[in-house]
Amino acid sequence: MSFTMAIVGRPNVGKSTLFNRLVGKRLALVDDQPGVTRDLREGTARLGDLRFAVVDSAGLELEQGDSLKGRMRKLTERAVESADICLFLVDARAGITPADEIFADILRKRARHVILAANKAEGTAAEAGVMEAWALGLGEPVALSAEHGGGMDELYHRLRPLAAEFTARAEEAAPEVDIDLPEDDAAEAPDFTPSAARPLQVAVIGRPNAGKSTLVNAILGEDRMLTGPEAGITRDAISIRTDWRNTPMRIFDTAGMRKKAKVQDKIEKLSVADGLRAVRFAEVVVVLLDAEIPFETQDLRIADFAETEGRAVVVAVNKWDLEPEKQARLKELKQQFEKLLPQLKGAPLVTVSAATGKGLDRLHGAILRAHEVWNRRVTTAKLNQWLAAMVEAHPPPAPGGRRIKLRYITQAKTRPPGFVIMCSNPEDLPKSYTRYLVGGLRESFDMPGTPIRVFLRSRA
Ligand code: GDP
Ligand code: GDP
Repeated sequence: MSFTMAIVGRPNVGKSTLFNRLVGKRLALVDDQPGVTRDLREGTARLGDLRFAVVDSAGLELEQGDSLKGRMRKLTERAVESADICLFLVDARAGITPADEIFADILRKRARHVILAANKAEGTAAEAGVMEAWALGLGEPVALSAEHGGGMDELYHRLRPLAAEFTARAEEAAPEVDIDLPEDDAAEAPDFTPSAARPLQVAVIGRPNAGKSTLVNAILGEDRMLTGPEAGITRDAISIRTDWRNTPMRIFDTAGMRKKAKVQDKIEKLSVADGLRAVRFAEVVVVLLDAEIPFETQDLRIADFAETEGRAVVVAVNKWDLEPEKQARLKELKQQFEKLLPQLKGAPLVTVSAATGKGLDRLHGAILRAHEVWNRRVTTAKLNQWLAAMVEAHPPPAPGGRRIKLRYITQAKTRPPGFVIMCSNPEDLPKSYTRYLVGGLRESFDMPGTPIRVFLRSRA
């Protein structure tokens, strides 16, 4: 075992849920009742190619004494002291509480290594909470969703270098100890390449009659492993698993659901609700438009929702076979798109014919590329070089004679890419300057079609 990690934090932040996810067994009790986990539980965690001991502590309670809470506090301290790394969990939805701040102090004093993580970070509601966690002064918070598995890749990236350090130290101390990691496990390291275990999650959304069913059927038809049009497809209530051109995918099946519903006059309403559900499910959202009637309010609303939810977006214009003036029309559509959805600037726009199969290669390529960009990580060194050049080319304003200073930039998250910039008086920086920076990031680091988040902070 290379190292020991203790999960600490006040009650109800999700420690047991995370423990269960890491250990992969339902060992700890999970309950909404605060403080239901009352003992230290230990298990072997697997995360990518890492194997380590993990301890689920009870809540870091503030009261001392012989009460249950006092006992829990002692247990926690024991966990902190015996662990190489403390994973300090806060609740991104609840925000930072005074208790969190006191625990941060304890950890700063007692723990060897602290990794701060903001749990329950799924969805946009939690973004503010994740950013707030910076204020604890424990560095960059990892955005986690213990319940849904979000952020485990990020956690892996944080643990990896520490694990290497501990392993090296252990080898030095006791060279005969054989830390034996199976070779093939390296393949499990989260690198976002779609795999059978982690198929790329795609949703095809669009108005009724845009051609969603036809497209999904065309995609399934290209899966060589399938013997018949429907045979062998793993289809659950919401999704279909397929290997499209050798890419493991899970496709959210809105069309299939709509056909099942059969209530004609409710179709419109239902398809919007489905669209929203599908967006939440997906990593990449394909907005399917009908070439004859593109960009209706409903399409725009769903595309905008995909952006707000931070999904990668690919626009596919269907029924292209019916289009007489292809070149001119394509130019016109691209212009319309940039005008109507400036927040999705540069998102790939591909033309397809679901009926004939033409353009499906382009669509496949665009989906893979959008997914890759969505997962893109830029090094801090490159970002800071870039920031210096951006500031030099176009200095920020100096309200009241004091120039706003942009000191430092780092990438706080992926899926979608999010960046934190430390700056003086962030509230005075005009929105137009932030847009300049976002545009610059997109262009310099080649990140089209993904939402890019920039957070300004006055200090780390
Ligand atoms: P503990 O007291 O810190 O061990 O917290 P638990 O693991 O018992 O979780 C407390 C509550 O938070 C439970 O209802 C969990 O289902 C919930 N929870 C845990 N992780 C997440 C998450 O990632 N997102 C959301 N929304 N809820 C979570
Ligand atoms: P959905 O409601 O979005 O699932 O749309 P369907 O897949 O049921 O398609 C609606 C209609 O458009 C059907 O009559 C299809 O045959 C037709 N259609 C779908 N894709 C194409 C295409 O690429 N070209 C043409 N010409 N017709 C298409």
